[in-house]
Amino acid sequence: MKTNSRFFLVFFLALAFGLAGCEGEEEYPMEWTDDGLPQSDTTVMAPGGKADTLGWPDTFEEFLEYVYCESDGRICVVDGDTPIAGGMSGLLEFYNRHVDLPDGQPLSVNWGSRGDDLWYGDERHDLSFCISDDFGDRKEEVLEATLGAAQDWEEIADVSFPYRDDQDHRCHLDNRQVMFPVHPADGDAPYLARAFFPAFDEEERDVRVNLESFDRSLQQSSDMEEMTLRGIMRHELGHVLGFRHEHTRTEAGNYWCFEDNNYRPGTAYDARSVMHYPQCDGENDWTLEFSEFDAMGAQYFYPEDGVEVLGRCDEELDDEGYVDEECEAVVAQITEWLSQYADEEVLVSWMDMDEEVVEPLEEARFDRPFDDLDDVRDRGGLDDDQIRHVYDYLFEWGRCPDTEVDEDGWVIAWCLPVVNAILELANTASFVTLDEEVGIDRRGVENIVAAREQRSIDTYDALVSLGYVKQMALFSMYEFLYDSQ
Ligand SMILES: [Zn+2]
Repeated sequence: MKTNSRFFLVFFLALAFGLAGCEGEEEYPMEWTDDGLPQSDTTVMAPGGKADTLGWPDTFEEFLEYVYCESDGRICVVDGDTPIAGGMSGLLEFYNRHVDLPDGQPLSVNWGSRGDDLWYGDERHDLSFCISDDFGDRKEEVLEATLGAAQDWEEIADVSFPYRDDQDHRCHLDNRQVMFPVHPADGDAPYLARAFFPAFDEEERDVRVNLESFDRSLQQSSDMEEMTLRGIMRHELGHVLGFRHEHTRTEAGNYWCFEDNNYRPGTAYDARSVMHYPQCDGENDWTLEFSEFDAMGAQYFYPEDGVEVLGRCDEELDDEGYVDEECEAVVAQITEWLSQYADEEVLVSWMDMDEEVVEPLEEARFDRPFDDLDDVRDRGGLDDDQIRHVYDYLFEWGRCPDTEVDEDGWVIAWCLPVVNAILELANTASFVTLDEEVGIDRRGVENIVAAREQRSIDTYDALVSLGYVKQMALFSMYEFLYDSQ
């Protein structure tokens, strides 16, 4: 169980990607903006170094003292460069998550309401950006670092960061011609740079770079001499792709760098990761190069063959009724499900499995995702009958109580049993059924039928990328399947 870190919340602002060498421990009086956010120039800074345990915020008010909020945006920052969107309510939600941590889903990806906080479908190839002319005579430097860092990620993950130089002259938050602007931070911002996570709203997606604090850190800290802007941008683009700080993992063993449990691992804990702060017991340095595990994690979350991983096979069970190992698509669904979602509630309440399977599975999946069925047997402790039970859950009768549809009416992509049922319906129901009984927009039905004539629609992404198949169509299929029972 990973709940022992529940109250070990300590904010470690200073050295991090914040101001290195910011000395002085005096607390500044708090001032507040009109909307009640802490004003940026009154943020309490910690002195540098590991002894920087600022204490455990017992109250929300105390927590706010460790938060930096940007003057012109809606983003506040904790732990160096961890951005929190949504103003005051975002901060409150973040705080509540720490005080009352859900059973955590432990390179680690951010965990949002729809499961993994990643870029899905075609979005991953259109992570476009501009570099603000406001960098002045240092723009070239920022441009080169960002292009280099983008290229570094493109080499290990199936993502693309196109640079839109025609937008540089108006490279700010409200420019919708780019996915995100890269522009200068406020001079007093307590970080070198900060980014955003995929789930952030459009108007909250930007990357800010504080060149003054970068220069100062280079001069003042001998540990940071080898730091490069490209390394910093590599780390920041990691956040843009959804990756969390590796040092927040409980395996890091340093409660002073712990943030929260809202992540799940893509690899075993990796002290060399680009997403690990060196000063949090990292085995890396300030060059922030990729580790071997970063490359594995990037492939895991953004694989070359992306959407093809899931799907179905003609032969899924062998003669004895056990799951056929040859059927990679089904094996992938089983290992994904057990790696990502199989906490106690899911295993026992949703899947109706014995309590005794919980502990070994939890322990194994918090270490790293399952590779294949052998791995599920060896590390996860399931036998073939239990694996067949997981199969039946995913493809025959499974449900995800209270988490099948989100507040916007989208069927939640990570609820594989429901998604599988919807895909089955989309692939097999007649035109008339989809049109008249299910009630999908006729243009959507035409697109579904045309697509499945080419090849079966195997993934959620493939289904929702069809024209006129959006919330309503998914929700209609959902209601048709489950309300008619
Ligand atoms: Zn960071």
